Amino acid sequence: MARLATKTLRGPAGLIAAGLAPSERLAELERVAARYAVSLTPEVAELIDPADPHDPIARQFIPDPAELDRRPEEHADPIGDDSHSPVEGIVHRYPDRVLLKLVHVCPVYCRFCFRREMVGPGRRRALSRAALAAALDYIRAHPEIWEVILTGGDPLVLAPRRLREVVHALGAIAHVKIIRVHSRVPVVAPDRMTAELIRALKAPGKATYVVLHANHPRELSARARAACARVVDAGIPMLSQTVLVRGVNDDPATLGGLMRSLVECRIKPYYLHHGDLAPGTAHLRTTIAAGQALMRALHGRASGLCQPTYVLDIPGGHGKSSIGPCYLERVGSAGDRVAIEDFNGRRHLYPPSSPTPTRSPDEAQRNPGERRERSG
Ligand code: SF4
Repeated sequence: MARLATKTLRGPAGLIAAGLAPSERLAELERVAARYAVSLTPEVAELIDPADPHDPIARQFIPDPAELDRRPEEHADPIGDDSHSPVEGIVHRYPDRVLLKLVHVCPVYCRFCFRREMVGPGRRRALSRAALAAALDYIRAHPEIWEVILTGGDPLVLAPRRLREVVHALGAIAHVKIIRVHSRVPVVAPDRMTAELIRALKAPGKATYVVLHANHPRELSARARAACARVVDAGIPMLSQTVLVRGVNDDPATLGGLMRSLVECRIKPYYLHHGDLAPGTAHLRTTIAAGQALMRALHGRASGLCQPTYVLDIPGGHGKSSIGPCYLERVGSAGDRVAIEDFNGRRHLYPPSSPTPTRSPDEAQRNPGERRERSG
């Protein structure tokens, strides 16, 4: 039985005291915690069912000895941030946007984190004033930068005053039109989403988006939903990103349930990330074929609003690409015809060999909404 945590749990002893790990696992958990940061907020601890050895929330945050198994293909910087970092805190990989990594800490530490070698206590907590000034100078000097993505670590651990300073400095740069904030805070520390913090994210004349990282429907607790509603009600659109994690959300019911819950919260699913090759995370990764099968299961069975783009960050810093599935196949010697698969797995030629069957008046009466669904 878990005891109610009143403060953030930062190590194996705290997890054991809270009833979230058995005491006989102390030594092995200590070995993992010596390598990778551990932190669970009370809100996350409360979501865990300690009686379930496969609890999907625990799997995301409670350390596992399998993390000490590092595979040859895994890398400390799996998506190649460093090779695209012209100044400290900036990652400039794509022409029109940069990451601005303000902090190196998070309220929770995800066991599959792609920046696990860079975040956590013991690293520098935040960009220094001088480094931030140099990062802002870099953005000012590059008129092609249309969008700045605040990330980290989790930028919403910063005090509202500090966030306001950064957002307003970005807002004063004419060519920056979009400020995007990536965070797990609305679900893992929803009470941090105060009116003051939300106000701090807005800059006059600029569009701010908040991208929520959520991986399981249970993360969208009543308090998390209320926190997200405060953001959206303040006029800030929300998107989501989900990491596909083995044993957490790699089944159609859970993934579909998560996407529907997000849309119910007025959050548009944006990315489903294939797990990155971060050290010690092989036990949490699925295969790309499994990810594609999950996307097929969502296709046509969940509303179009619930469809994220399944992406892989190509190792080495080559950016994200969509990894399918693909429903299209070129056919015919000229390659000008395609076979397209519908959501039931049936293939259709396009253009069709014969005129598309027209509906009889009876059919039209049976499906009166069909034509209307395509308009607007
Ligand atoms: S919140 Fe993001 S940066 Fe922080 S540990 Fe989780 S995945 Fe990594």
